[in-house]
Amino acid sequence: MDSFDGLSFRSTCVTARIVTPDGVATDRPIEIRTSPLTGRRSRITFSRSGETEHGARHLPAPPPHAGQVAACPFCQPQLETKTPRFPPAFHTAGRMAQGGSILFPNLFPYAAYSAVSLFDDRHFVEIGTASPSVYKDSFLNCAAYLRRVHETDPAAVYMGIAQNHLPSAGGSLLHPHLQVHADRVAPNYHRFLAKRTRAYKTATGQALFSDILQHEKNDGRRTIGRTGEWEWLAAFAPEGFYEIWGILPGRTSVRRLGDAAWDDLARGVLNTQRFYRSLCRNGYNLGLLTVEQDDSGLELRVVMMVRSNYAAWVRNDHTSFETMLGDMATFQTPEETARLARPFWA
Ligand SMILES: [Zn+2]
Repeated sequence: MDSFDGLSFRSTCVTARIVTPDGVATDRPIEIRTSPLTGRRSRITFSRSGETEHGARHLPAPPPHAGQVAACPFCQPQLETKTPRFPPAFHTAGRMAQGGSILFPNLFPYAAYSAVSLFDDRHFVEIGTASPSVYKDSFLNCAAYLRRVHETDPAAVYMGIAQNHLPSAGGSLLHPHLQVHADRVAPNYHRFLAKRTRAYKTATGQALFSDILQHEKNDGRRTIGRTGEWEWLAAFAPEGFYEIWGILPGRTSVRRLGDAAWDDLARGVLNTQRFYRSLCRNGYNLGLLTVEQDDSGLELRVVMMVRSNYAAWVRNDHTSFETMLGDMATFQTPEETARLARPFWA
């Protein structure tokens, strides 16, 4: 990674000269961008944008087991007997409820505090068709859980709310849910973001995501819209397909967000889902990271990105270029992502 302290939006182009199969000498451009946040490079390989991707011509049909609710541990009435409960010292009822959302410990935890927050009792929900209110309830349940973690173990400050929508995005169960994590040991992105935002504040006296947002609003090419105080934009140097950020400037704690902010977040998440659906994509990841310390400079930012479609014989979106060479390669510009997404915020 480059040495990287300030805030710059860098981009360069290289060309590959080829002779096409029908004998024409052609230059194929590749744009290489450097993330103003991480200093990591990502590539836009324009020539692939003309390809018709297998499995993305139509929204894939629901999987064959979409109706098998009796086999799902997250569906009622199995939930009562097939999912774990919190120890009484953590939560007396064993599971937390908010509206139709139920939250309980992850049977296969990834962190000292790892939970699953359901939206409701619906087993299969097509992308973009949920109501914002079920997302709001599930987010509120996550926030209540993270407040309880903070009361129990104040040193477990590295917190995150995440989602793997469909198995192609890492979800092991079809039933829609959020993953909630908290730990004393920082995951890599928390560790990097805590250090980066602190260094930026020390050097400039400013908050990093507020400054990125201001730059992007001044530029205008990647801004998409707002839902309440959340401001939505396409990532300048994407690390995933159609990567969209929602920034809540000046706010650093999920434990202290009021109902309205969660409602506004839910509406933006559903706008993004409807945008992804319009591209015939059904799998995505979502993440909202926070360091719950009073002096944290990490403002709230939700990240969403399309993953490979959940359909038969669709190729994975991470090739050897991502896993071995380390640069994410997407196929069209973030400016085009923003242009296509804006109608869903209208
Ligand atoms: Zn289910």
